[in-house]
Amino acid sequence: MRIDLHTHSRASDGTDTPTELVRAAAAAGLDVVAITDHDTAAGWAEATRAAEAAGVQVVLGMEISTRHRGRSVHLLGYLPDPTYPPLVEALDRVLEGREARVPAMIERLRGLGIDITAEDVRRASYGTAATGRPHVADALVTLGAVVDRDEAFATYLGWGKPAHIDRYAVPLVDAIRLIAEAGGVCVVAHPWGRGGLALGGPGRADEEALSGLQELGLAGIEVDHQDHDAAARDRLRAVARNLGLVATGSSDYHGDGKNDHELGCNTTDPEEYARLLELARTAAQRSGRVTPAVPGRAGG
Ligand code: AMP
Ligand code: ZN
Ligand code: FE
Ligand code: FE
Repeated sequence: MRIDLHTHSRASDGTDTPTELVRAAAAAGLDVVAITDHDTAAGWAEATRAAEAAGVQVVLGMEISTRHRGRSVHLLGYLPDPTYPPLVEALDRVLEGREARVPAMIERLRGLGIDITAEDVRRASYGTAATGRPHVADALVTLGAVVDRDEAFATYLGWGKPAHIDRYAVPLVDAIRLIAEAGGVCVVAHPWGRGGLALGGPGRADEEALSGLQELGLAGIEVDHQDHDAAARDRLRAVARNLGLVATGSSDYHGDGKNDHELGCNTTDPEEYARLLELARTAAQRSGRVTPAVPGRAGG
């Protein structure tokens, strides 16, 4: 069984439609793929329709933009009831923040002499509700201002660069609670990734921080991710083992939007996946919410 639990579609900043994503997962030899767009479940319906035909199990999820101790943390939420009103409210607030910062980024870029407009960004974002910096990056590529997303982030959009604009993110502890109340399970994405030591840095401090989050309902951590080198993966695997957290592995595929993140480049151990599904089942029962099945999977 080959399992990839973190991917993006055009419902956020990936470049494949949800259907193309599911088909690409099948073509890559995956048995299970999770669709985890930033701050939205907008791709779920289409991915669900594509699952049976493609012969792939699709785990419905989202990657929530959160903040913890002043730092950005990405939280993967799997199989929550996407209609749970407090969750919808929190995601809407992030989406509003995403929308509101686009004009501010454009103004900064125009101030730097780049002739970019709101229409350019709209065209690059395929109508997603979760407009992100990668869409602004794509517009800059189309305009010929940079060669790819990486250069756009390194020159203009990354942290501390001239067109970087902050936006709202959900407090991490609130996001963990909301996913639990909605009957889902959550996993911290790339905990020691590019966002940088979001949980305090490798070492005891991180283990204590994660242990505290586990008490709030955190189910696991993403261990095998392209942002983690071999040493980081070893240490994170040990942390997961010590705490009894589920250890996942994923590609964080973005279609053509991210190099070196091909589908299945990292995968999740089937036993860890089974534990995650078991925790999801328990959370769903405890919540009393109607949570999604896993389309393409025998017995739902
Ligand atoms: P946002 O949530 O709109 O602030 O943008 C975050 C997205 O930008 C995530 O998908 C990141 O993976 C992506 N990202 C961050 N840094 C870079 C980079 N240097 N090159 C390409 N994508 C990046
Ligand atoms: Zn992304
Ligand atoms: Fe992320
Ligand atoms: Fe991601």
